[in-house]
Amino acid sequence: MKVGDLEILPVIDGTGREQAREVLTAPGDDRWACHPEHLDADGNLELTLGGFLVRTGDRVVLVDAGVGRIRNDHYAGGGFLDALAALGVTPDQVTDVVFTHLHFDHVGWATSRGEVVFDRATYRVHEADWVHFVEAADADPGAVRKLAPLRERLETFDAEHTVVPGLDARPTPGHTPGSTTYVVSGRGQRALLIGDVAHSVVELEEPDWQATFDVDPLAAQAMRRRLADEVADTDDLVVPAHLPGLAWGRIVTFGETRRFVAV
Ligand SMILES: [Zn+2]
Repeated sequence: MKVGDLEILPVIDGTGREQAREVLTAPGDDRWACHPEHLDADGNLELTLGGFLVRTGDRVVLVDAGVGRIRNDHYAGGGFLDALAALGVTPDQVTDVVFTHLHFDHVGWATSRGEVVFDRATYRVHEADWVHFVEAADADPGAVRKLAPLRERLETFDAEHTVVPGLDARPTPGHTPGSTTYVVSGRGQRALLIGDVAHSVVELEEPDWQATFDVDPLAAQAMRRRLADEVADTDDLVVPAHLPGLAWGRIVTFGETRRFVAV
């Protein structure tokens, strides 16, 4: 996908599966009954895991870094570096790794066995996520182990800023304290890489869903609505982190209903 002069390419690491009715809920009767097209025969929501590659000038930027070598009942990764190689990129060519947030399925290839994988890159994340996932006294030890080796190569931020020309970071907290949307823009076009502001199309189409993964569900819901309102019925593309195949789309209003229309 090209936006302005920047090309944004999916880098697929693997797949996750979650019981949709356990992880995404909305008030009222079984709301998933209206959305069977997003579920498999067992009621699972399929999540593609990975990240995106943005190349511009002499910068090679990764937005998120997959789930890593995990293989369990829910998640299976492992393809990220091969997917990058297929795009002609070796780990030492990556200049920047920017995170939408620090959940395990976005930092899988940040480090491996205690070593930084993209060892010439600068890693960038919102300060509030670094505090929540690494520095806090109650931080998950697994996350600390995974992320602490990044410290030497880390730059944190706490406000909107330009990462490289045409790629801006915008804090959109709620899913996690430092959740960040990356806005790619140029020549009058925009694409918003929204991370886990939404995990499924249904959260973008209907404003009253909640996700169990959200650190602050109400703030996440409000942020999701705000972003959906901003892009609805514009040419802006929306790119959630886990739609099957890392699909892109636009949010379009039909009468009373809002739909995510894949492009
Ligand atoms: Zn995620």
